[in-house]
Amino acid sequence: MIFQIITLFPDFFKGFLENTIISRALSSNKVRINLIDCRNFTKDKYRSCDDYTYGGGAGMIIKPEPLALALDSIQAKGKKIVYPTPLGVVYNQKMAYEYAEIKEIVIICGRYEGIDQRIIDLYKPDEVSIGDYILSGSEPAASVIMDSVIRLLPGVIKGESLKEESFSNGLLEYPQYTRPEIFRGEKVPNVLLSGHHENIKKWRLKKSIEKTIMRRPDLIESIMADSNISSEIRKTIKKIMEEELTDGFN
Ligand code: SAM
Repeated sequence: MIFQIITLFPDFFKGFLENTIISRALSSNKVRINLIDCRNFTKDKYRSCDDYTYGGGAGMIIKPEPLALALDSIQAKGKKIVYPTPLGVVYNQKMAYEYAEIKEIVIICGRYEGIDQRIIDLYKPDEVSIGDYILSGSEPAASVIMDSVIRLLPGVIKGESLKEESFSNGLLEYPQYTRPEIFRGEKVPNVLLSGHHENIKKWRLKKSIEKTIMRRPDLIESIMADSNISSEIRKTIKKIMEEELTDGFN
């Protein structure tokens, strides 16, 4: 898979590229990340990529010319293009799985007050937000998208780890423990020490469901409406919700 990142700040990604999982994926050629410096496509001696907003107002906008030339230099039209922006649909794990199926993704990094609207109209990127808050630029959002996609590529991390984590079955993950068995008086739940795999599985599912009901009731609604989610999970949710009505959570 290839990521083409158009940015004014290629150095931002230095640390990201050195991250263990990413650098392993890069050195085993599972992914290629091509950083394209938008300033290389400017025509003035100051290599300026921003300009004032028509109509007035605070802040600058990234100019269309260098962005369009950068996009054209990699024949971006017709490819999957993503523009991270707070105006976009909120990114989620389902989208990460969809992007992991695509061979080449171009990401346009915005800065200042954003990019000229005509780039969006002409190149039709997916507009994707990583949450309801404002970043100074898209580079952190591009890293979030790349990280979440790269770890899903076959062979990058163990398939087992992906099966068990939050959102893989629509739920949040169960609580996890490591050694020591007792830490500051807090003991690891007995069931996890029992070696009884079936009981451990049931306990984890119950805890996952309880946590999701308490923290993300919106996810429970989606699971109940989704026939792809196993009937075991849906039955257990119903049972736990009925118990909650009578006893409350402990
Ligand atoms: N003027 C914009 C607005 O009010 O929506 C905010 C611009 S922000 C300071 C600069 C750039 O950071 C944006 O163009 C966008 O590319 C990126 N950005 C900011 N917040 C983001 C978010 N939540 N998700 C994805 N990208 C974001």
